[in-house]
Amino acid sequence: MNKEAFKADDDWSYSGDTGPEHWSEIAPLCATGRQQSPIDLEEFIPGDLPPLHFHYDVRALCLANNGHAVQVHFEPGGAIEVGDHRFDLDHLHFHAPAEHRIQGKGYELEAHFVHKDEANATAVVALLYEDGAFNRAFAKIDRLLPANKGETHELAIRLTAAEFLPDKRDYYYYDGSLTTPPATEGIGWYILKTPLTIETSEVQGVLRADDGPNNRPLQARNGRKVLA
Ligand SMILES: [Zn+2]
Repeated sequence: MNKEAFKADDDWSYSGDTGPEHWSEIAPLCATGRQQSPIDLEEFIPGDLPPLHFHYDVRALCLANNGHAVQVHFEPGGAIEVGDHRFDLDHLHFHAPAEHRIQGKGYELEAHFVHKDEANATAVVALLYEDGAFNRAFAKIDRLLPANKGETHELAIRLTAAEFLPDKRDYYYYDGSLTTPPATEGIGWYILKTPLTIETSEVQGVLRADDGPNNRPLQARNGRKVLA
C-alpha cells in the first residue's frame, strides 16, 4: 500500500473558502503556472504519437478515500510503455464530473491512472465516461467505495486494472499539471479518445469522497499543443 496516497490534506476542497479559487494561497502554481490542468482539449495537432502499451494485468487490492477522491490500489507490476519509456502504475482515482473536456463536451466521470517512472516523472492516463449503459468494471466497486475520509476497504473480488480499459487506446497528449494542490507541472497527460459509458447511479460513490463534485475548473491552455 502506498502511504503517500493517504496524505489527506485539509487545507483545500472543491467549494467555499478552501475551494479552487483559493488554492493559490497554499499552492502558488495554481495562480502562476502556465501549464495547469485540466483543459478543454481542442485544436488538435496531428502528431506522431507512439502507441501506448498497457501492462495492466494486475489485481486491485484495496479501495481508499483520501478525503478528496476514491482510489483503487493494485498489486505491484502494473505499468505503461510509451516508446521505450516505462512508467509504473501507482494508483487509480476518480473525478465526478470529469475534469477534462473534449471540444467543449463534458463527461460524467474521469478516471486517472497515475504512473511514475524511475526519475519520479509522472504520467497520467485519463479515461472519460459518458452517460449510458452501466459500466461492468466500475460496477464491481461502486457500492464498495469508502464513504469516509481515511477509510480503506480490502477487495475480495477479482478485478484487474485492464478491466477498466476500452479496446481502442488511441489518445490525446499534452503537457499539464496535477489537478489538485500542489498542482505540480511537468505531468504528461495521455487522454484516451474513446469514452466509456456509465450509469448515473454508479457515480454516486465517487461523489461521496469530498461530499460533492471533485473536479477542478478548466484552466487556460496558454498556447499549449494538444497532440492527436
Ligand atoms: Zn485526478
